Amino acid sequence: MDSERLLCDINELNHLFRESASIETLLDKAVELVAERTQSAVCSIYLYNSEEHVLTLRASRGLNPESVGKVRLRLGQGLTGLALQEMQTIREVDASRNRNYKFFPGIFEERYKAFLALPIARGISKMGVLVLQRDSAAAFTAADITALETAASQLANILENAQFLLGMHEPHQEATPPPPTELKFVKGKIASEGYAYAPAMVIDKHRSLSSLLQRDFDTGCTLADFHKAAANTAAQLESLQERVEHKLSDAASLIFAAHLMILKDKAFIDKIVGRIEGGANPPAAIVEVAGEYIQGFLASDNSYMREKVNDIEDLAIRLVNNLISHSEEIEIHRNHVVVTRTLYPSDLLKLSSEDASAIVLVGGGVTSHISILARSLGMPMIISDTFELLDLMDGTPILLDAEIGNIFIDPGDEILEKFHSQQATRLTLDEQKKLMKPQTVTPDGTTVRLLANINLLTDLKLACALNCDGVGLYRTEFPFIVRTMFPSEAEQYVIYSKLVDSMKGKPVTLRTLDAGGDKILSYYHDIQEQNPAMGMRSIRFSLQNRAIFAEQVRAILRAGADADLRIMFPMISSVDEFCQAKEVVEESIDALAGGGIEHNNHPKLGMMVELPSVVNLIDDFAQEADFFSIGTNDFIQFTLGVDRTNESVADLYLPHHPSILRALHTVVRSAVQNGREISVCGDMAREQKYIPFLLGIGVRALSVDPAYLLRTQQTIAATSISDAEALAQSMLAQSRVRDVAALLEAQTVQVESVQNHFVRTGVSGQS
Ligand code: PEP
Ligand code: MG
Repeated sequence: MDSERLLCDINELNHLFRESASIETLLDKAVELVAERTQSAVCSIYLYNSEEHVLTLRASRGLNPESVGKVRLRLGQGLTGLALQEMQTIREVDASRNRNYKFFPGIFEERYKAFLALPIARGISKMGVLVLQRDSAAAFTAADITALETAASQLANILENAQFLLGMHEPHQEATPPPPTELKFVKGKIASEGYAYAPAMVIDKHRSLSSLLQRDFDTGCTLADFHKAAANTAAQLESLQERVEHKLSDAASLIFAAHLMILKDKAFIDKIVGRIEGGANPPAAIVEVAGEYIQGFLASDNSYMREKVNDIEDLAIRLVNNLISHSEEIEIHRNHVVVTRTLYPSDLLKLSSEDASAIVLVGGGVTSHISILARSLGMPMIISDTFELLDLMDGTPILLDAEIGNIFIDPGDEILEKFHSQQATRLTLDEQKKLMKPQTVTPDGTTVRLLANINLLTDLKLACALNCDGVGLYRTEFPFIVRTMFPSEAEQYVIYSKLVDSMKGKPVTLRTLDAGGDKILSYYHDIQEQNPAMGMRSIRFSLQNRAIFAEQVRAILRAGADADLRIMFPMISSVDEFCQAKEVVEESIDALAGGGIEHNNHPKLGMMVELPSVVNLIDDFAQEADFFSIGTNDFIQFTLGVDRTNESVADLYLPHHPSILRALHTVVRSAVQNGREISVCGDMAREQKYIPFLLGIGVRALSVDPAYLLRTQQTIAATSISDAEALAQSMLAQSRVRDVAALLEAQTVQVESVQNHFVRTGVSGQS
């Protein structure tokens, strides 16, 4: 091939770009030219849609012209999808021999064996793939690759926007969905531990709705059937709502309220009825009217309104299913592994109320609170970047092991046997109860307080059953996050009272609202912040919205009237801020006393240590605060500048970074010297390998999710303080991460012999 000439011709393409009447013509000319210059039988351009994660064949010289616009591949699928996923050129002498090769009937590529796929990208943005094929006698050479890689990068310049523009004026229904996946195994990131073996159910609402639109609705349904389906749907939603309330009284709110409201909206119903009376098929009428509402909501600037799209999609799918299948099934997701691209807190509650087995979240990043919520709901969850999972056929058996992040698709007998035998070694709640000792003591006789982190009231069941020493952290934001409005003082009072009462006099620590950052209140956080993690969040939000803050504090003081009550402020960055928050509590106490309302007038007031600015002032804070709790999750994030929710920097999120270890040491030493209580409530407290270090620097109280209470107790019971102190000293002496890691590695042998104790059902709070 004449590489110099080819490059010139691509330059020539830039001219063509300006002159081509349409993008299609431009792409056709491009493939024509490249095929000719490289003497390839086939030259094709696939363009990538980064929202759908799908590559579509947009132009081809040599393949069946009918296939243009129709052949679609997911990122990573086939050699073409793989080239883009890996951002690597793939060259094969006989493509069909590669196990990633994907056969598409009817496009006639099987006769060309020599294959070359070059990713087209701009910087790190994936744009498409240039594919060349020849017959086997003329395999591609290294020189071909060099020239074509340059060509691909030049193509990137002119292809920018082409995908978008083509997508705009293309009738959607022409494209065929990507072929079913042949995936067998996927490794993902654990968001909530547990296990499930159940059939898959893929939720891709946009796809479900548009495929509903494309269906031939010759169902013979009548207007009367529609009214019946609407009544059925309302009854189902009401019964689901009741179930949520029963199961999760604090979080329930009206999560199906929006659905019911839309269903009761006369304008919505009238529009559908009008269409049916005008001759439309009832299912088509539902989908069309829902589509109009969705467009309206999508146009809104308000993120809360945009979230409503989700509810309308849910509702339309449920209505149509009721209409055409007459199914009595209300728990559509019961005993299924749900595979989905989007997940709101309300979705999680819905799926939990329907008894879904587990969730695989594809592509989406996950806020830390979605993971925490999933953990509290006992819902195993894995996050994966493998978009092919969305192509799974409903009903495909899935084995999800969210203790190590493995997803097996249609697993063989051997894997299943192993899974079942592992399951048998897991403990039931009763077995855990029997193993739990009344006190947590090290082998050399030091008592450690073992507290529970409570997110939803459902966590209390296990926490109480395992007789924890109190609540070290109640994240009050959950009742706020799952609602559609700020909960009133009365609502909060009811929730907090349940928490306090269940602890029967043991210490209870309620953290005031920690909203903002990645803990979004969809009804409030309307303004897009550039840097929400460092924005108007947490205690700053409370101090700026004093009325909301004071309402919460009053509800806490009233609920904890007779309790060993501790109020903890999150994200404190300065002594001034702590004092301002303290003032709000003092004012609230005065106001309640003035009104003759029963309340706690001597709560201990403490703070989270989550920001590096606290470390240098810790002695000063100790003059003001009664206690501290170290939130390692945020402390690590802010000290190292590593987003705790960002998968791509996860390997830099290092609890054992020397700077973290030394800061923890400084904070704990100061608290102890000043006679202040100190505990650790971030995830570091429950990670077995860090527990000896924490004990070694003087921590004597750990607060963990109830599912980890037994394991943490057993780890402490296996760690003598003298060993822990020696280990901590050596760890603190290191300046390099790798040297600390080596020390941890050497000590974990002993700690890891302590078994993992998840309850057998995989459910933490509800077993
Ligand atoms: C922490 O930051 O460690 C913590 C316990 O708080 P949260 O995870 O709720 O941010
Ligand atoms: Mg935090």
